[in-house]
Amino acid sequence: MSFVRLVTCSFLLGLTCSPAHAYIDDKPVVLPRPSLSSLTSAQVIAGAEKMYRQRLSDIEQAGYLDKDEAFLERAKKIAQVLIHQAAQDYPDTRHWQWEIHSTSEQEESAYSMAGGKILLSQFQVERLNLNETELAMLLSHEIAHAVLEHNRLEYEQALVLFPTWHQRSFEELEEAVDNDESFLRALAPLSKQQEEEADTAGLKLAQGAGFSVHSLVNFYKKLSRNSANPNFDSKSHPAPARRWMAMRALAQTLSQ
Ligand SMILES: [Zn+2]
Repeated sequence: MSFVRLVTCSFLLGLTCSPAHAYIDDKPVVLPRPSLSSLTSAQVIAGAEKMYRQRLSDIEQAGYLDKDEAFLERAKKIAQVLIHQAAQDYPDTRHWQWEIHSTSEQEESAYSMAGGKILLSQFQVERLNLNETELAMLLSHEIAHAVLEHNRLEYEQALVLFPTWHQRSFEELEEAVDNDESFLRALAPLSKQQEEEADTAGLKLAQGAGFSVHSLVNFYKKLSRNSANPNFDSKSHPAPARRWMAMRALAQTLSQ
């Protein structure tokens, strides 16, 4: 019987990738360099978990983490309904350990990471004066980023644009995608596309969970009305006014 023993490089452990070796019937053979498909959801989720813990620890040290228990409980209660819906619409996410924390830091805005790790900005929610349904839309947008595996797709796109990075560790790639100016610039179109996808999928998810589509759209109205530049794209996000119009049109279609 043929016996295959694999010794592969690991993105997860941050080891430098070199051609993998396998031993077939105890004879060494060189396997092709890991392809994009070697970047698995599990690896990306594990990497996100590590970054999330670090971010939470930094926020806690700065004195901004989960300062308002009532606010956090309110958000978690709404998220629970949406996560329940996500488990039905995206069965692969059923086993995920969803987590929500809040920060009162003013510069931070809401975000989510692979595997369902969400950070909510209390300042942003209060500044926009979001009611339950509007907060549900914000959370649903973040949940949509996670279930659509936007982190993994972003890393894969980065490897297509910067193929020499196949030689580097996954940890270095994570760092570059978040902070390196040339990566941010190159990934900006994808980033905007992912925002639109999360808007659309988020609206559908929240509607499935029982929220009124027209009330959900009010989140985008408030976002646009409170924006200093509602008609201009930012580096990573489409123009708030355009997002609002798109969501209004989608709500119209979904309610017919
Ligand atoms: Zn987003």
